[in-house]
Amino acid sequence: MINRRFQRESQNPAARCWLLFLCALWTLEAPADESGWSLHGQNFSEQRLSPLTQINPQSLQDLGLAWFFDTGTRRGLEASPIVVDGVIYTTGSWSRVYALDGKSGALIWSFDPEVPREWGANACCDVVNRGVAVLGDQVFVGTIDGRLIALDRTQGDVRWSTLTIDPGKPYTITGAPRLVGDSVVIGNGGAEYGVRGYVSAYDAATGALKWRFYTVPGNPAQPQESAALERAVKTWTGDQFWRFGGGGTVWDSMAYDPDLDLLYIGVGNGSPWNRDIRSPEGGDNLYLSSIVALEGSTGEYRWHYQTTPADNWDYTATQHMILANLPIEGVSRKVIMQAPKNGFFYVLDRVTGALLSAEAYVPVNWASEVDPETGRPIETDVASYRDKDQLVRPAPFGAHNWQPMAWNPDSGLVYIPAMENFSLYSNPADYNHQDGPHWNTGQNDGAIQDNPLASIDPLYAAPLLKHLMRGQLIAWDPLKGRAAWRQSLPSMWNGGVLTTASGLVFQGQGSGELVAFEAQSGKKLWSTDAQSGIIAPPISYQIDGEQYLAVMAGWGGAIGLVLAQPSVKQGAPGRLLVYKIGGEATLPSEAPQGLFLDPPPDTASDFEIASGLALYNQHCMRCHGLGAVSQGLVPDLRAMSKTTHEIFDAIVLDGVLAPVGMIGFESVMTKQDSEHVRRYLIRAAHDQVALQEESSQWRGVRDWFFDQIGWLAAKVL
Ligand code: CA
Repeated sequence: MINRRFQRESQNPAARCWLLFLCALWTLEAPADESGWSLHGQNFSEQRLSPLTQINPQSLQDLGLAWFFDTGTRRGLEASPIVVDGVIYTTGSWSRVYALDGKSGALIWSFDPEVPREWGANACCDVVNRGVAVLGDQVFVGTIDGRLIALDRTQGDVRWSTLTIDPGKPYTITGAPRLVGDSVVIGNGGAEYGVRGYVSAYDAATGALKWRFYTVPGNPAQPQESAALERAVKTWTGDQFWRFGGGGTVWDSMAYDPDLDLLYIGVGNGSPWNRDIRSPEGGDNLYLSSIVALEGSTGEYRWHYQTTPADNWDYTATQHMILANLPIEGVSRKVIMQAPKNGFFYVLDRVTGALLSAEAYVPVNWASEVDPETGRPIETDVASYRDKDQLVRPAPFGAHNWQPMAWNPDSGLVYIPAMENFSLYSNPADYNHQDGPHWNTGQNDGAIQDNPLASIDPLYAAPLLKHLMRGQLIAWDPLKGRAAWRQSLPSMWNGGVLTTASGLVFQGQGSGELVAFEAQSGKKLWSTDAQSGIIAPPISYQIDGEQYLAVMAGWGGAIGLVLAQPSVKQGAPGRLLVYKIGGEATLPSEAPQGLFLDPPPDTASDFEIASGLALYNQHCMRCHGLGAVSQGLVPDLRAMSKTTHEIFDAIVLDGVLAPVGMIGFESVMTKQDSEHVRRYLIRAAHDQVALQEESSQWRGVRDWFFDQIGWLAAKVL
C-alpha cells in the first residue's frame, strides 16, 4: 500500500523530495551530526539508510577510491565507522581505535588498549571489534579483555576505563557500545566457553555502573537479581546450568527507541549449546535466543520474544535489529525486525513484543514453521540430536550472523546478508565442562568423521559445499513475508549492508569485491576490487558537501578463521577504504603468498588420526581452520617447519607462544594428545601435497561427482 505509492513516486525528482521527507519521518529522529553517520547504525533505529544522494545510480560510474588507511594487521575487521565533525572514528583487531581526517585520511590519533594476546584464546570468532560510540567530547570502545574505555575525542587519551567482566571467566567484548541518554551500554560474549550473559549501562561522564541486566538465571538455590529472572529460572531444569554459565550473551546487536525509552537487546545461545546437558528435564531456558526490551533509563525488563525456545543449535538472537514503522492492515505499526541465526525473519510489535509475522528466509530443516498463534517454532524430527546424530540447517554459523542488514522505506525492503549452511550435531557420550578458554558446546567433536556427508575432506569438498554452504544477499519484503530478489554470492561469508536514499545497496563480499546493487531490482550496477574479502558493513558520510563511502576491508571473523573457501580473497593487510565521486587513488599491488609444504613422514595409525582430529576440532579448529586449512590469518599448521615440529609440545602444552596469542593447553591435553594432534596435522599436510600433485583430469572428474552429490544433498536435506 504505502510501499507501492513510494515506488511510484520515487520515479520523479519532486516525488523523491517528498519521499526523503517521509524517510526522515520514518527514521524516528534526525542524525545528531551533519556528517550523516554519527551513530553505529546511522540512527538509533539502526536502519543503516544513508540520507545522502550524491552517490546515486547516475554518478556511480565515477565512484573511485579517495584514500585508504592501513591498519597494519591481518585479522578480521568488522567495525562500522562513525563520523563526527569531519573525523572518522573506527576500530581494528585487538580493539585498537583510530581517528582519521574524513577528507584526507590523515591519522589524527590512534589508541591501543594493549590487550594481553593470551586473552585472544577466549574469543570464539577472531579478535574483532565492531566499532566505537561517540558522545560529546568522548569516544567509547569495548575491548576484547572486557574493559569499557572512554577516550578524549580530540587527543585519544584515556578519560576513564572500567572492567565490565569477571576476569576469572572467559568473557570478551567485540560489540560496539550503544548510547541511551547519557549512558553507554555494553554487552559481552563467551557463551561457547561457558559464561552468564548480561548487559550493563555506565554513566558516560564518570564510568560508574548505572544498571545491569542478567539475561539468564544464576544459582536457582539463591534469590535472583530481578523479578524477570525469578520468572526465567522456572524455565530451566537440573541444578548444573548455572555452573556452565547458562550463556545468553549480548555480544552484538542493540537498538533504542527514545520515544518509548525502550532498549532492545539481542540475546545469544545457551552454554553449552546442547540443551539435554544444559537443562536435562526440558524447559524454554529464558531469556536465551530472545529479543528483550528493557527500560533504557533503569534496565528494567518490559517484554521478551524468544525466537528459539530451548536453543539446541547456537541459534542466537544477537543479530541486527531494525526499528521501523510499517503499514500493516491499514495501521502504521511500530515494529522491530530481525533475521536471527535460526533462519526465520521476524516482525514484532516493538511496543508489546507481539509477533506480527515470521517466515523462513532460507531453507531450514529444524522447524517447519513458526506457529502464528503461539509464536513458537514447530520443531521437526531432526531438531533433537539426543539419541541420533543430525544434519541440521542452518549450522551454528547461522542463516544470518552479525553482519548488519539495512532497511530502505523507498523500496520497502530489508537487505539481509544471508547464508545457507548445515552442520552435524552430535550428543557426546559424556560431557566434562572445562573451565577457562575451552570450547564447551556439548558436542561430540569426533563424530564428524562418522558421517558420510559431514566427513568429506574440505580439501575435496568445494564443489559439494557450494550447494550447501553459500552466501546470498536477500531483499526481503517484511509486509509480504518473502524475498523480492536474491543475489547468489561467490562465498558464504560476506559483508554487512548499506542502503541509500538514492536507491542503492552496497555490500563488500568474501571475493574481495565491493558491489553496488539497484535497491529495487537487485541489478548489479558497480563493483571494485578491494584486494581483500570484506565482512564489515559500509557507511556513508559527507564533509563540505562531498559524499564519501567507507568500509573496513579485512578478512576474518568466525567463518574467516574456520572455513576455507576457494572464492575468498585474502592476503591484503586490513584497511579502511574510502570512496567518493571522482576518487582516483589506487591500492598498492599485493604479492601473492604461497603455501610451502615439507611435512615429516606420515606414520600415524587410524586411531591416532581419529584421536588427533577430535582433539584438533575441540581445541584448535576455531582459529586454525576446519581440516587444518587456514585462510592466512593465523599460521597454516600443515606448513609447520622442522623446528616447529620439534618444539610442538612446548607450544601446544607449555604455551611458549602465549605472548603472541597461542596459549598452552596443558590443563586439558596430555603429551600423547599433543602427539596425536601433530600426527593429524602431518596427515593433513600430506593430503594437501597429494592434491597439488594429482592430475587435472582426475580432479575434474571428482569435482563433477561432488558437484552432483552437493546438488542432490541440497534437495534432500
Ligand atoms: Ca554462539
